[in-house]
Amino acid sequence: MDCKLREQGFEQGSCHVFDFTTGREQTACESTLKYERGIPYRLIHAILLSRPEHYLSVYQSGCNLSCKKCHSWQFTQNAVGEWMSPQDIAKEVKRYMQEYEITFVRREHATSWHAHELCKSCGSCIMQGKRSKSCPRVLSVDKIELSPQGLGPARNIIAFTGGDLTCQPEYYVKSAKLIKQLNENVWVLLETNGYGLTPTNLDLFQQAGIDSFWLDIKAYDEEVHRKLTGVSNSRILKLPAEIKDRDFILEALSLYIPGWVETDQIGKIASELAAVDAEIPFTILAFFPAYKMGEVPSPDLWQMIDAYTAAKDAGLRKVKLGNVHLFVKTREEYETLEKIAGEESF
Ligand code: SF4
Ligand code: SF4
Repeated sequence: MDCKLREQGFEQGSCHVFDFTTGREQTACESTLKYERGIPYRLIHAILLSRPEHYLSVYQSGCNLSCKKCHSWQFTQNAVGEWMSPQDIAKEVKRYMQEYEITFVRREHATSWHAHELCKSCGSCIMQGKRSKSCPRVLSVDKIELSPQGLGPARNIIAFTGGDLTCQPEYYVKSAKLIKQLNENVWVLLETNGYGLTPTNLDLFQQAGIDSFWLDIKAYDEEVHRKLTGVSNSRILKLPAEIKDRDFILEALSLYIPGWVETDQIGKIASELAAVDAEIPFTILAFFPAYKMGEVPSPDLWQMIDAYTAAKDAGLRKVKLGNVHLFVKTREEYETLEKIAGEESF
């Protein structure tokens, strides 16, 4: 398989995955993408209604980066799964729309970020028969569905997540077109590290009707980014403007990794986003030890509060903290977070 990034004049990704069929490392597109009679197939690890996003997630095997902290390395750094064509994805989407009572949201809310405004997945309305204190109280109980990851609504959004092969755009283009043929009000979201989002590929995604991106900006410092992921972030930091210019919906996230990506870098990432649009939703996620970074601890409460404050001071209006259970351990810490950042921030 020819590298589509090199064809466009860019550096290839750090995209080696282990392929059990050959017993060696190969590029992600060699091992997790194939063509049969002109039809692209991807190795798909799983497809399910995910929480807390409340949308159908397509978990892909194979990735164009090899992040030391990858939380999904079992299937992004190894070629594992079932070969599925865009037609197979469309069938899964059809099944999802029939199986669940779908909650339709507008295109501007085709994000992970807006999920918590509908439901916090506490399950209280179903299990206890009454709503919890934190329930947003906007959905009727008949919209709450059970999925393998818990209770909540099923929104009209299909997200490609897990690994990332946006450097090879055709699979996403064909899948999006088929999904839109099924129902033009189903939004297609790509969760991405941004490395495959060249101007040419962004144009193709726009023409195919892809609606939104959840951009994971892994570091502001170029050297840190290279050490974490194997590639430069110089193109990735310019993406928020390029994505918004093409009328996609955009949200961003960064992981707080003690000793690697802390408040100084998160504040600078937030400034870059705010310079494009202060309304871009930004989630700061707490790191937990994984893959090749098993020795690095999770951040503590005050590190996360500092990062939150820096992102707000940079001008962003929609900032949220994620993986709260990793840095809030006591009732006092919960109350401190609630008092400083407000309940809506987590
Ligand atoms: S996975 Fe992407 S970056 Fe790697 S060789 Fe294939 S097209 Fe190039
Ligand atoms: S970009 Fe995401 S899926 Fe790919 S290796 Fe990095 S963390 Fe894992």
